[in-house]
Amino acid sequence: MVDLQSQYAKIKQDIDTGIQEVIDSASFVKGQKVAEFQAHLEQYTGAKHVINVGNGTDALQIALMGLGLKPGDEVITPTFTFIATAEVVALLGLTPVVVDVNWETMNMDIESVRRAITSHTKAIVPVHLFGQCADMEPLMKLAEEHHLYVVEDACQAIGAKYTFSNGETKQAGTIGHIGCTSFFPSKNLGCYGDGGAIFTNDDELAARMRAIANHGMVVRYHHDMVGVNSRLDSIQAAVLDAKLPHLDEYISARQRAAAFYDRAFANNNKVLIPGRQAHSTHVFHQYTLRVVGADRDQLREGLAERGIPAMIYYPVPLHQQKAYRDPRYKDGDFPIAEKLAACVLSLPMHTELDEEQLEYITSNVQDLLAQ
Ligand SMILES: *Cc1c(COP(=O)(O)O)cnc(C)c1O
Repeated sequence: MVDLQSQYAKIKQDIDTGIQEVIDSASFVKGQKVAEFQAHLEQYTGAKHVINVGNGTDALQIALMGLGLKPGDEVITPTFTFIATAEVVALLGLTPVVVDVNWETMNMDIESVRRAITSHTKAIVPVHLFGQCADMEPLMKLAEEHHLYVVEDACQAIGAKYTFSNGETKQAGTIGHIGCTSFFPSKNLGCYGDGGAIFTNDDELAARMRAIANHGMVVRYHHDMVGVNSRLDSIQAAVLDAKLPHLDEYISARQRAAAFYDRAFANNNKVLIPGRQAHSTHVFHQYTLRVVGADRDQLREGLAERGIPAMIYYPVPLHQQKAYRDPRYKDGDFPIAEKLAACVLSLPMHTELDEEQLEYITSNVQDLLAQ
């Protein structure tokens, strides 16, 4: 699914030097590299504040803690996503309210969000699934009308750009009140372990979240609020700082691979290529087909036999997960998400795919579909 070795080989010198510098400085936590990477990421994203944390899940949790939400407050998320989005809501004693997604873009459906808003709703967490922004302009408008916070789960979409009707363009994670991303190795900007970041343009929120990530501490050993311990270590920051200058090339490489897949499957009516969100670029964290005219699981097995990995992101929507079963929801309540869970198949997608590999993958998919 990913090829991190070949990617490393191309920038080995920069990565090795950065890691060695950290070892030489023996400043493994809160070192110079972390500050440098933070500044570079602020520059790249246009976010006023970047707060580096331990992983993307922590970023989401700290974001919700920073908003000061209380048990019983409702937080709206799509039901078709990675579990972390709802997990932190539940962990904080908040109430996850799930909504359906759009069949084409697989992102949160804005009309469903509108219907899910109650007097207890405090925040909306859109997920920029597979690498393209959710429909942010109408979502921000809706949030404003109802005085709700928006926390973007941009874990799969760093570098994706959304253009508003006034012509303004913003990056995924910098549109809502807070944005969260992950540097898990296979993410579009991945480190060599765990890492994550929070984005915000709000000075007060930034100060509060920075303190929460550091045991609720502003002045050393004086704790103003209950916090957590979540930080990006210096070695990971060194890896990320070496990779960030290449992120735009990495995105282009993914987009080229996606265009190849699109061309190969455009006229095959057994699969649907990923629908594109208007006003957003797509950075293709995943290239996800909807298998509508064949048996998805059989196709996946056939590919595996030919040495081609393919993954199901995600096989079970939140409202059907054992840990998140809720009497308010029953099977069939979110038909699009349920239909997607039964038909999605993600093909290998990374920065190092060449034409030969893409040709091998697409011709085998076509071949299996023709059987
Ligand atoms: C990866 C991911 C996360 C969690 O990030 P971690 O760094 O693994 O904690 C959260 N949400 C989505 C949509 C993700 O893809």
